[in-house]
Amino acid sequence: MKFLLSDVNLWYNSRVTGHVENAEDGDAKFSNAFQALKSVSMVILENEITAFIGPSGCGKSTLIKTLNRMNDLVEGCAVSGKIMMDNEDIFGDMDVNSLRKRVGMVFQKPNPFPMSIYDNIAFGPRTHGIKAKRRLDEIVEKSLRDAAIWDEVKDRLRKSALGLSGGQQQRLCIARALSVEPDVLLMDEPTSALDPISTAKIEDLVLELKKDYTVVIVTHNMQQATRISDKTAFFLLGEVIEFGDTEQIFSMPKDKRCEDYITGRFG
Ligand code: ADP
Repeated sequence: MKFLLSDVNLWYNSRVTGHVENAEDGDAKFSNAFQALKSVSMVILENEITAFIGPSGCGKSTLIKTLNRMNDLVEGCAVSGKIMMDNEDIFGDMDVNSLRKRVGMVFQKPNPFPMSIYDNIAFGPRTHGIKAKRRLDEIVEKSLRDAAIWDEVKDRLRKSALGLSGGQQQRLCIARALSVEPDVLLMDEPTSALDPISTAKIEDLVLELKKDYTVVIVTHNMQQATRISDKTAFFLLGEVIEFGDTEQIFSMPKDKRCEDYITGRFG
């Protein structure tokens, strides 16, 4: 699944919610609003890992949440511009539930549901109408295997997911995201709450997953971005200042602000 973003702008605390056509500078709708994304254009390719980097509060989470229209849930959040997912306009007459099924998300803090490991993974497929036990068993096993946690949990599937370690919980959440067979995996700082060993496991897993998925990851860890990502976008104050091959961005950034950030001079 490929994303093509053109001239995406986003405001919080606007007088309107949702997608707006023809947003003009100085538009009264946005008079007291805060513009969190400014004219963002980029291409996100499948079978690649795209990393979003930059200081806190610069729009990285906002953009990632725009890709599956999570921001629709925020009153006063308005977005203009175009986001095409393959040949479909995500702000067009696309069903939001089917968009969110195709574009899964994993958050910073692992958030397993307070239920068994099995039920966490079966939750999404059940919501989508799959009832047969044998089919659910297959999905649960495949999802946990794909998230590299099957061997650790196969003998305790009926136990609470809350009893797992933080790193295991995060891989469980990745398995849960995979259980509805998405095309895209969005990850918002998925390892920032984890120890180095769990982080390494998730990084290996993400590298494996990119063979089958489009992956977008927000990270504050520059080493992580260089270790796993193919493309990097550097954000500053709502703008994508530089976007390109990770190797180029980290060895020869074109923009001074990007260079200052990745060499640790600010942020
Ligand atoms: P980052 O992921 O780069 O840390 P965010 O996308 O979370 O940045 O935030 C970008 C800006 O938008 C910040 O100034 C933040 O305070 C603001 N913001 C984020 N969410 C909301 C919201 N729901 N309402 C108002 N402002 C928000």
